[in-house]
Amino acid sequence: MSASHPKVGFVSLGCPKALVDSERILTQLRVEGYEIVPSYDAADVVVVNTCGFIDSAVAESLDAIGEAIAENGKVIVTGCLGKRPEQIRAAHPDVLSISGPQDYASVMSAVHAALPPRHDPFVDLLPDYGLKLTPKHYAYLKISEGCNHRCSFCIIPSMRGDLVSRPVDEVLREAEKLARGGVKELLVVSQDTSAYGVDMKYAAREWRGKEYQTRMKGLCEGLSELGLWTRLHYVYPYPHVDDIIPLMAEGKLLPYLDIPFQHASPRILKLMKRPGAVDKTLERIQRWRDICPEITIRSTFIVGFPGETEEDFEQLLSFLDQAELDRVGAFAYSPVEGATANALPGAVPEEVKQERLARFMALQAEISADKLERKVGTVQTVIIDEIDGELAIGRSKADAPEIDGLVQIQDGAAAGLKPGDFCEVRIMGSDEHDLFGLVGDDED
Ligand code: SF4
Repeated sequence: MSASHPKVGFVSLGCPKALVDSERILTQLRVEGYEIVPSYDAADVVVVNTCGFIDSAVAESLDAIGEAIAENGKVIVTGCLGKRPEQIRAAHPDVLSISGPQDYASVMSAVHAALPPRHDPFVDLLPDYGLKLTPKHYAYLKISEGCNHRCSFCIIPSMRGDLVSRPVDEVLREAEKLARGGVKELLVVSQDTSAYGVDMKYAAREWRGKEYQTRMKGLCEGLSELGLWTRLHYVYPYPHVDDIIPLMAEGKLLPYLDIPFQHASPRILKLMKRPGAVDKTLERIQRWRDICPEITIRSTFIVGFPGETEEDFEQLLSFLDQAELDRVGAFAYSPVEGATANALPGAVPEEVKQERLARFMALQAEISADKLERKVGTVQTVIIDEIDGELAIGRSKADAPEIDGLVQIQDGAAAGLKPGDFCEVRIMGSDEHDLFGLVGDDED
C-alpha cells in the first residue's frame, strides 16, 4: 500500500464478540483505503474498541484510551464502554468521538472527520472474507446481537438491547466465505446461542438450494455442510439443546459445548435470574454423554454472589464433583456498575470470596487433571495453531482457542506441521491444562 494512505491505529479490547466488531471496522477501513498501522507513532488517528463488562475491564479500557491520547493525541472510542460517555469524558475529555458497540457507522464518520479517506479500488484489494484478527485458520462467527435475559449481574442487555438474530442464510454465506478464505474452524458466538432465531420466529431461509430454519439446529445443519470444525459457545441448558447432540455424535459438529452455568444452588440461580431449568441439569448432562460420550463440556461459574451461604457454596462444589465438567473458569463476584445484583443484600466479604474461589479451583484442578490423564494413550485429532522451535502447538476437539488447553506436539516441527494443519497425535502425557504428544497414530 502506498505511503500516502491515511493511517489508522487500532486497539481492540474485550471479549470475542468485541473482536468481531473490530474485524468489521477494520474491514471497512481497508475497503475505504485506510492503512492499518501497528504503532501509535505511525498512526494519524487511533480507534480504541473498549470493553465495559466488569470493573477491571472498564479500568483497562480507560487506561488504553489514556495511553492512546498520550502517545498519539487523536483518539476515537467505540465498544461497550462507549455506552457510558460521561465516564470516558470525565477521565479523558479530549477524545474525538464516542460510540457504542456495533455502531460501525459512527466510528467510520468519526474517522472520516478526523482523516478523510483516499479510496483507490485498484490498490485496495481486499479478500472477500474481510480482515480477521484471529489467525487465518479459525474465525468467530457472530450469529446475533443482544439478549432477552436479564441476569442480575449483567449489563449487556442494557448496553446491547434485546436479541436480534442474523438470518440463517446470511450467517451461512459468511461462513462459506470464511471457508473459502482458508478458515478451518468456526467459533459460533452470541450472548445466548440457544436462543438464536426466537426473535425471527425461526424463519426459514434458503441456502445452496435448501431450506434452513433460523434456529440453532438449522444453523448447525447448514454449517456441517462446510466440513469445518464448528464449535458452539454460550449455549444455555434448554431442552432443545438435546436436538444438536446427535449432530455431534455423527461428527457434523464438534462434540463441545460452552455452557455458562454460573452456579448450581437453585436459590442463587434464582437471585441471578439465570435462564434455563436448573433442577435437571445433571440428568441432562448425563443424557448428552450417553448420546455422545466424547462430548466436552466447558463452563464458567461465579462464587461469592450476594447472599451466597456456605450451604449454597457446598451445593456448588457437590455439583462440580458430580458433573465432572472438562473445562471450568471461575470468578469471584465483582459488582458491575449498573447491575441490579448490586442492590441484593448479603454481600460476601472479599476474603470469603477468595477462599471459596480457591477451594472451587482446587477441586476443579483435580477433576480436570484426572479427565486429561484419561486421554493419555489415546490418539487425538489436533489443529495446529503455531510452531515454536521444535514444538507444534495445537488444540484437540476439546479445546477452544484462548480459553481452554493446548496440545504440545514434541516432534511437530520435524514432522513439517504448519498452522492450520490437522494431524493425529498420540497423547503421551498430561497436566491439569494441557496434553503432550507425538505425531502419528502408530502404537510403537
Ligand atoms: S444471558 Fe444473562 S449473562 Fe448472558 S448476556 Fe444475557 S443477561 Fe447477560
